[in-house]
Amino acid sequence: MVDSVVDVLVVGAGPYGLSVAAHLKGRGVQTRIIGVPMRFWQENMPEGMFLKSEPFASSLGSPRPGGGFDDYTSGWRAGRPIPLGTFLAYGRWFADRLVPETEPDRVTAVERSGTGYTVTLSTGETVAARAVVMAVGVGGFAHVPDEFAGLPAELASHPVAHRDLGRFAGQDVAVVGAGQSALETAALLAESGAYPCVLARTTRLAWNAVPDASLSLVRGPRSGLGRGWRTWLWSERPSTVRFLPERTRRRIVRTTMPPAGAWWLRERLADVPVRLGQHVTEVAAHAGRVVIQTRDHEGQVSRVEADHAITATGYVCDLDRVGVLSPEIRRTVHTRHGYPVLDAGFQSSLPGLYFAGLTAALSFGPVMRFVHGSDFAAARIATHIARTNPSRPMPRVPAQARP
Ligand SMILES: Cc1cc2nc3c(=O)[nH]c(=O)nc-3n(C[C@H](O)[C@H](O)[C@H](O)COP(=O)(O)OP(=O)(O)OC[C@H]3O[C@@H](n4cnc5c(N)ncnc54)[C@H](O)[C@@H]3O)c2cc1C
Repeated sequence: MVDSVVDVLVVGAGPYGLSVAAHLKGRGVQTRIIGVPMRFWQENMPEGMFLKSEPFASSLGSPRPGGGFDDYTSGWRAGRPIPLGTFLAYGRWFADRLVPETEPDRVTAVERSGTGYTVTLSTGETVAARAVVMAVGVGGFAHVPDEFAGLPAELASHPVAHRDLGRFAGQDVAVVGAGQSALETAALLAESGAYPCVLARTTRLAWNAVPDASLSLVRGPRSGLGRGWRTWLWSERPSTVRFLPERTRRRIVRTTMPPAGAWWLRERLADVPVRLGQHVTEVAAHAGRVVIQTRDHEGQVSRVEADHAITATGYVCDLDRVGVLSPEIRRTVHTRHGYPVLDAGFQSSLPGLYFAGLTAALSFGPVMRFVHGSDFAAARIATHIARTNPSRPMPRVPAQARP
């Protein structure tokens, strides 16, 4: 027996969950959305951060005009970086206007039952849902290289663990990585009074160019993922990605928007030591510090000692890490390389179980890693659910158990 019944339950209230719920509501589908709006952006991104995405690529998916970033800020020009706080406020504004019924709880379990799913909430309530949309975001997929995995949290962490980098003031911090997260973490650490040192495998840091809205046939059109004809296709027509061979899709996800710093970050790193061409070979704790041994391309071995190491080494989708899905679901749902295999409507091999955001990247390409993909994903999911999950009888709820 369950406590309540709903057509669709959306797990997570980040950009994707909010967009999906808004589109489902727009289609008149009875929906519940569980999660604190924009929680990951509030709790797991560093204070002082700026978005790398341009304003035109930073809108949540709205079923009607009026829900875009530009509607919230009005006239934020391209090339002006968006502060984290502004984007957070926009996300909450979107939630208040389009999905005010978002429930600030957690989903603790999703199990299959009959023709649908039983979802357990942190309040103890059990809900029967015909369809479940998993929009759990990137936080659970933080990737830590094996060499660092055994270290205690005082010595090594992933950027996801830090809202306030000021706690490292006065300390030596090794930042591993060469992407925006590594470079911005290093800049924010230096500005907070810490002594960061960047360690990167690459032999040259890459920097994104200052955005330029001019038309150029040679360089190709501008899109949410950057310049170029192919980039435009992956960004603006993600449905085409699904028709490509799996190997090509994997390559596109890996290589579109490779690690690079935003143009506005470069100057801020001028005084931060950066050691390039360094492969981490061994990591150990010694006398309360972390000792990192590296080898360069010529085989030269070096050691870096720090009070703490931050591994800004990204996020890797692995459905096995989505602990709220029952072991039976994780065992039976079709996956490839850790991603669920999705149909044209973002539905997995288990009818009624949908995935949005990073987990959809192997099917729909790199734009699913960014806010820009949320409108496409949400519209597709809502259309698919409205079409393929017409009201069917659901398990009966005993009157005394209704909340
Ligand atoms: C440092 C950093 C900077 C970034 N900058 C940009 C940028 O500039 N532009 C851009 O487009 N993208 C950026 N991204 C990528 C960004 O994370 C995604 O674009 C965006 O957050 C995807 O939205 P989402 O809803 O899938 O995920 P999230 O924003 O992670 O939201 C998922 C939500 O689900 C919640 N949740 C998870 N499990 C449960 C559960 N069991 N019950 C209830 N709630 C749950 C989480 O708490 C979270 O709030 C950045 C990522 C990082 C880490």
